[in-house]
Amino acid sequence: MWNPILETMPREKLRELQLKKFRRIVAWAYEHSRFHRRLYDQAGLIPGDIKTFDDIARVPKVEKKMMRDIQGIDPYPYGDLLCVPLDEVTTYRQTSGTTGQPVYQADSWQDWEWWSEAWSYILSAQGYRKSDRVFLPFGYNVFVAFWAAHYGAEKLGCEVVPGGVLNTEARLLKMQELRASAMMATPTYVLNMAETARKKLGLDPARDFHIQRITCAGEPGANIPSTKQRMEETWGAKVFDHIGATEIGAWSFECLEQPGGLHVNDGLFLVQIEDVESGELIEEPGLSGKMVITALDRFAQPCIRFDSKDIIQWHDRECSCGRSFRLIKGGIIGRADDITKVKGVLLAPTAIEDVVRGIPELGDEYEVMVTKKGDVDHIAITVELRPEAEQLKAEVEARLASQLRLKTNLGYAITFVPFRTLHRYELKARRFIDKRKHT
Ligand SMILES: [Zn+2]
Repeated sequence: MWNPILETMPREKLRELQLKKFRRIVAWAYEHSRFHRRLYDQAGLIPGDIKTFDDIARVPKVEKKMMRDIQGIDPYPYGDLLCVPLDEVTTYRQTSGTTGQPVYQADSWQDWEWWSEAWSYILSAQGYRKSDRVFLPFGYNVFVAFWAAHYGAEKLGCEVVPGGVLNTEARLLKMQELRASAMMATPTYVLNMAETARKKLGLDPARDFHIQRITCAGEPGANIPSTKQRMEETWGAKVFDHIGATEIGAWSFECLEQPGGLHVNDGLFLVQIEDVESGELIEEPGLSGKMVITALDRFAQPCIRFDSKDIIQWHDRECSCGRSFRLIKGGIIGRADDITKVKGVLLAPTAIEDVVRGIPELGDEYEVMVTKKGDVDHIAITVELRPEAEQLKAEVEARLASQLRLKTNLGYAITFVPFRTLHRYELKARRFIDKRKHT
């Protein structure tokens, strides 16, 4: 463990620490950011009002939209949420903008060290050691992606190879040449790389590389059982999940025990789950709700009671690794905005992925489109049939239809396209298209 004292701290002690840190960050934001002062003044709240854990729920939530609204005003371009002078900002990042205008994120050097500290927990928990040579095949740019992972791995003493502007083939060859022992990428890109290795370079990822562990982030895949299995078999490696976000930080990680979910880093974050409709806090396992999260030690552009819209649920078990950090079951189940009803049925796009990736005759990519014809919802899926499975098309189609019906309670119009026709994503894949929202 990176920090055994914190990671095994009894839960009541952890809660005390979280409350103490929460009060500190709220007081700091109230003192240093006009945005937070306005927000708390409007709610009739002063930091001193927060005395118990229950009081935390009184603190107003911050939505992404509120952050966008203040962008572009001084201190430019971050707006008055910034708690330090612009001179202290050392790093600019922005969100990917998949749900609208990107949010700009300022980090001070202290906060950037905090990022790499958070990643040190993740990597230690996943078995990264000084002896690892870690390859990072991602475009180092304005998106935070694996930037902090890079620094975290260095902090741990690993050797880090930045696979920046290289194309996929060049990245693969470099990884092979250097006998990299670990890599980090989105699940989509992990599969995409394997496909490129086989098709373009004639290499078998499991046989011709030395990758032992892969850390995934950016998409749900590493906690969708069939996608995880596909990646682990393809690369002959252990695959671990991590969830983080630009405006939050690196808040969760899967450990070596792979307990069917991720640990929340309770030492550095406060995660709360709220019922989407009633707003009531959910403490018991099995009920999903949206995550409201606070980064307890991030000071330049704080993240306090951030309404992430991510749907998660508590796991019903403790982890055998010995950490007292709580577990969430699976990964992010969906987004509060995305968990839509189709034909009156609640649909989580991750369930579709689990079905498609569970059918070996299908390629890794797929696309789901929801439209409205008159008053009736229509859901269609496009999948790729692997060339070697051409003869089995009718049988695969029947299996896909029945599995989709079983797992999502919906009937789909199924279209097959030739292998490698659908778009290959490197960062965040967009496979679920809801056309009803735009008509
Ligand atoms: Zn664990």
